[in-house]
Amino acid sequence: QAKALGRNEMHFFTSNLQERMSRSLTLENALRGAIERNELSLHYQPQWLLPEQRLVGFEALLRWQHPELGTISPSEFIPIAESSGQIIQLGEWVIATGLQQLASWQQDGHSDLRLAINISAVQFRRMELVVRLAAALHAHQLQPGCLELELTEGVAMENPVHASQQLKVLHDLGVRLAIDDFGTGFSSLAQLRHFPVDTLKIDRSFIEYVDTDNSSLEMLRSIIQLAHNLSVDTLAEGVETPSQLKVLSELGCGQIQGFIWGKPQPADACTRYLQQMA
Ligand code: C2E
Ligand code: MG
Ligand code: MG
Ligand code: MG
Repeated sequence: QAKALGRNEMHFFTSNLQERMSRSLTLENALRGAIERNELSLHYQPQWLLPEQRLVGFEALLRWQHPELGTISPSEFIPIAESSGQIIQLGEWVIATGLQQLASWQQDGHSDLRLAINISAVQFRRMELVVRLAAALHAHQLQPGCLELELTEGVAMENPVHASQQLKVLHDLGVRLAIDDFGTGFSSLAQLRHFPVDTLKIDRSFIEYVDTDNSSLEMLRSIIQLAHNLSVDTLAEGVETPSQLKVLSELGCGQIQGFIWGKPQPADACTRYLQQMA
């Protein structure tokens, strides 16, 4: 009986693996030409200064709507695009589309508005990134300081020597640099000291239980304190409840982003919001 069970488990495992492989192959193929077929769009989620409750800018988040496969989450298709190399093309589309939108909002009178863009490790590694960004900023006559690049900790850890050179070049260009999902990787604030980072985006996992779990609270407190000592801005990701907001505000967190004050939305919804605000 044990043997039969073992075989079943084996069978289960293989078919599961096969399913996953064929799903990623399907997505990889479907992703080819997605830009040309207009299946991609950007949603924008507001980022707020906490004490003032003032809008600082938006984070651009990629969306993919396939006619047969439906809506596919970026958490599913971004890793596939990274291993296939398609992320380079997608990433360029995000930069072009996002900066064009930002320029249009700034021309409507929101001249200090910022845009945050997620940059994959694959994009970050390539020397062309800086040239592409500089060209896109110039094409839309945008100040580099209006653009914040969100990089994950892994980016800096992978190849610290190259990463610190690349970060310096980006910093010299004048764009802002943020560490995304901070606290989930293996970097430390001690290492971050050597990088020209402007913002720590504290991962949602720290925020989630902050009002019920004391160790989350203490972690959060020390991250915010150290960031403050290093003159780095803090932004809490995934804030959903008033009690989380209250704790963050007591701890002196600089900015927040989360469902409590705005979900990611299409550009036209944000445009309407900005018009009402003005
Ligand atoms: P991320 O950059 O950490 O983005 C934050 C994610 O948290 C987004 O998920 C956002 O919709 C979600 N979120 C925001 N507020 C809340 C909240 O209050 N509660 C909860 N539960 N979730 C919240 P999304 O849009 O599904 O994106 C997932 C990930 O996909 C992103 O994580 C980012 O790593 C990646 N991604 C998205 N767009 C791009 C892109 O253009 N380029 C690259 N390289 N990666 C992207
Ligand atoms: Mg992000
Ligand atoms: Mg994040
Ligand atoms: Mg994340």
